[in-house]
Amino acid sequence: MSTTSELINKPAPTLSTQKSKALFEQAKTLFPGGVNSPVRAFRSVGGTPRFMAKGEGAYLIDADSNRYLDFCGSWGPLILGHAHPSIETAVIETLKNGASFGAPTALENALGALVIENHPAVERIRFVSSGTEAVMSALRLARGITGKSKILKFEGCYHGHVDALLVKAGSGLVTFGQSGSAGISDAVASETLVVDLNNLEGLHEAFRLYASELACVIIEPVPANNGLLLQKGEFLQTLRDLCTEHKVILIFDEVISGFRVAFGGAAERYGITPDLLCFGKILGGGLPVGAYGGKREYMAHISPEGPVYQAGTLSGNPLSMAAGAAQLRELLKPGFYETLEAKTSQFVGELNEAATGAQVPFKAWHMGSIFWMAFTDEPVFRSSDRISAPTMTLFGMLYHQMLAQGIYFGPSGYEVGFVNAAHTTEELSRAAGIIGGLVRALPPL
Ligand SMILES: *Cc1c(COP(=O)(O)O)cnc(C)c1O
Repeated sequence: MSTTSELINKPAPTLSTQKSKALFEQAKTLFPGGVNSPVRAFRSVGGTPRFMAKGEGAYLIDADSNRYLDFCGSWGPLILGHAHPSIETAVIETLKNGASFGAPTALENALGALVIENHPAVERIRFVSSGTEAVMSALRLARGITGKSKILKFEGCYHGHVDALLVKAGSGLVTFGQSGSAGISDAVASETLVVDLNNLEGLHEAFRLYASELACVIIEPVPANNGLLLQKGEFLQTLRDLCTEHKVILIFDEVISGFRVAFGGAAERYGITPDLLCFGKILGGGLPVGAYGGKREYMAHISPEGPVYQAGTLSGNPLSMAAGAAQLRELLKPGFYETLEAKTSQFVGELNEAATGAQVPFKAWHMGSIFWMAFTDEPVFRSSDRISAPTMTLFGMLYHQMLAQGIYFGPSGYEVGFVNAAHTTEELSRAAGIIGGLVRALPPL
């Protein structure tokens, strides 16, 4: 076995990427930018995206048979690693009875009950097919309940590609959104207020000025789509209190944090009960799923019980339900989250240790099994304005060296990493040593 310094000092093995390159050339003739979701195209790190052929526990194997220790986990869903036997069996057995009926099934009841019986903030749930769809439906529900139209979001939080939330802040404490994508009208963007995370003054100001017009506030309580921006409990509690006082619906978008930082997600960890929650990712065990849920009285406004329309041809799809239930049953086993968090904590500690003495400032931090690496001396970031765009060049360099050493992350420095149950402490220690060594070898900014 090579030591870390040997691995660092010898030139990076050049992995063959011939097949990935050929597949990408073909894909470019089929899909915009060659992909079906933009970050996958490697634009922010450069080079050729790896076309994956197989996942095996903690590892990914690409079309050229290169093996990578995977910290992307399909962007979060794979908390048990790839091809977990319980999920595989559940999906195969379910498929034998047909893939979809468009009629209710016991599988929906099973997954619904698993969530409601074990999540402190969910009394009723509705399954959809993606996180975006969950968020979009929750916004409509909040507007339908309150009869109000404005919504408030936080700069640096991602909520899927929902028009009303693909908005940027202007400059100022509280601003109306500006369209963040071509195709989103100013009329839609201007219904969304944007405030900075971790800024109590901005939050109070927004409520002082606009509380009477607000249908809802939506937040990623553990913002993890733009680095990992850890919020103080006090900030989230103040938000909860303001929403209660002004009768504004509080939506926790837990698509990434749900079933990840705890079974009950951030709501459980912070001991705060939002009115509505959005889920996705882990809930589907690697198959497409989304859900929104929360207080019974609010969920009763959804059709056919209430006047807020929402439907889906493949909603509650049997395969997704079976995969999700198989995954959640594993997560409910005693000690699951404690073990995963302890492993992550050790990994992040070893990573920071291994990067000591680097010419660039470097810090990794985590919550539960979500971690992020930033080129900074600050112990943690709480708002997106802390992130310096030029450091992303360093990430791009680090990224390709990690790939060459068989370590796979989401291809952007803004993306978090995930430790999954399939990672062993030995693999994590080895990866921490390698990544730390690569960081030490980076040139100064
Ligand atoms: C991933 C994510 C979404 C979007 O989910 P999709 O399934 O990609 O549509 C929404 N909100 C958060 C917090 C997410 O992490």
